[in-house]
Amino acid sequence: MAVDASLIEADANKQNSTSKEDWDASAIEPADAPRAVREYLDTLDEAAFGAASEVEPKFTSHSDPASQWTAARKGPAFFSYSDNYLIDTDHSVILDVEATRSIRQAEVGSTKTMLTRVKDRFHLHPERLIADTAYGSGPMLGWLVEREIAPHIPVIDKAGRNDGTWSRAEFEWDAENDQYICPEGHELKQFRRNYSDPNRGPTGKGTARYRALKEACQACPSKAQCCPNADTRKITREEHEDARQLARDIAKTQQYAISMRLRKKVEMLFAHLKRILGLNRLRLRGPCGANDEFLLAATAQNLRKLAKIFPAPQRPQKA
Ligand code: SF4
Repeated sequence: MAVDASLIEADANKQNSTSKEDWDASAIEPADAPRAVREYLDTLDEAAFGAASEVEPKFTSHSDPASQWTAARKGPAFFSYSDNYLIDTDHSVILDVEATRSIRQAEVGSTKTMLTRVKDRFHLHPERLIADTAYGSGPMLGWLVEREIAPHIPVIDKAGRNDGTWSRAEFEWDAENDQYICPEGHELKQFRRNYSDPNRGPTGKGTARYRALKEACQACPSKAQCCPNADTRKITREEHEDARQLARDIAKTQQYAISMRLRKKVEMLFAHLKRILGLNRLRLRGPCGANDEFLLAATAQNLRKLAKIFPAPQRPQKA
């Protein structure tokens, strides 16, 4: 399966909006509010909408406050919803659709919703999931690996260094002994003291920190390449590092190269949705309106696909 999201402009404009400094959702009177505004209030605690991020949008539309003011893709900003598709890559059939706020956390979160729903409804469980870098965070990769879904997804990796010194990739992970081995063969271990914060200890769930012995680094001929500005080298390991490493290993395989080509299929469905079906701007407002339009459009796309896979039977020729 493959997943992706595309921005669709909402039926809202900037003239009829309020900046984040002046927006106050608690001042809205639900009884007098139009349906789209009531839906906005109802979805404030949902992961796909209000609860997706604590960052306040720069502007909020009066007519469709759940739509997201977004300047993504480096173009001019506008109000939008994200259309999320989960497809099967054999036939490009859309397996599930979800409308979300147009921010990465909401789009990535919808993947979990769609995969769970497709499993519950159709008993479909993919061997692998193909997606772009936006989906390559540690928690997302960890979630997939826990469910035995191979992540064919580029890893979001901030461990790289741009000052020419060695990055974490130069250090070998020794899982059995819970340590890294540096290029000079020395061990980097976690701090050996008792932490009051359970998230920081060796069995904790947060970021674990490993460091080499100060004496080893001070006498090391490679110190200039490794840690020129510190007494000793430190390396952090995120909670989902095993899943991230699995994704990195998958990225070296031939199957991954095929997956990256298959990923274009979901992009092509969005291109078809906008160019052929003309869904560039929503006509309905609110999360339910967006969801209804996305669902209907995906249904139309699937029906076209079905007609191609199972063409109408030929009429018998007249004698
Ligand atoms: S500086 Fe320390 S961690 Fe880095 S290679 Fe030398 S001994 Fe290993």
